[in-house]
Amino acid sequence: MARRKLVAGNWKMNGSLAALAELDGIDAAARANPGVDVAICPPFTLIAPAVARAPGLPIGGQDCHAARCGAHTGCTSVELLREAGAALVIVGHSERRADQHETSEEVRGKAGAAIAGGLVAIVCVGETEAERDAGQALAVVERQLAESLPAGADAATLVVAYEPVWAIGTGRTPSCDDIACVHAALRARLRTLIGGEADGVRILYGGSVKPDNAAEILNLPDVDGALVGGASLTAAQFAPIIAAC
Ligand code: PEP
Repeated sequence: MARRKLVAGNWKMNGSLAALAELDGIDAAARANPGVDVAICPPFTLIAPAVARAPGLPIGGQDCHAARCGAHTGCTSVELLREAGAALVIVGHSERRADQHETSEEVRGKAGAAIAGGLVAIVCVGETEAERDAGQALAVVERQLAESLPAGADAATLVVAYEPVWAIGTGRTPSCDDIACVHAALRARLRTLIGGEADGVRILYGGSVKPDNAAEILNLPDVDGALVGGASLTAAQFAPIIAAC
């Protein structure tokens, strides 16, 4: 099944109102590559201004709460994200799994709320370096996937991002063979979880994707795009990654 590539930027806790000027160049790169879906996930406070600055560019959140509303200080609901103009949300990023001790069960709740609320959910999975060294990479990501997947997920509402924890922000990446191997395993596991829908779900690679390694990674089998951190902060770095699809 043909899947459109998706290149999504995760700005993490970076950016500013002034930095939204970068969206002009990112939007131009998206328009110049109409066969590629492009999205940017800035910090919560920048979502609405980002939508205003680049109305044609899908903007997303970096997390959401599973509940509709309530006593959850500091958290953001799917409804609030939608109201701000978000079209998607990242859930289960390894920085949240580590820093906020998020479990896959919690990630499943968030992904389910996102999908039920009309957002596309990008569900992140990835092994630590110790897990890879112990030969457990496939078992870890397959378990995270199975435990994080909400009921009702389908090709239109779910994106999976494989992000080896040790590759995020480090300048290191797995070999192309290793990336292809994990993506094939995730696709196979997805088939057991959601049947034929699995063939339409985009599986992104994330972890130190840069202009100089984007083409080889993005052209691997079962790699349907990239989740990009540092290199998504400027149009100068992000545009060549979009063009490499
Ligand atoms: C990320 O945090 O999702 C990520 C992939 O970061 P980087 O591209 O900077 O490694």
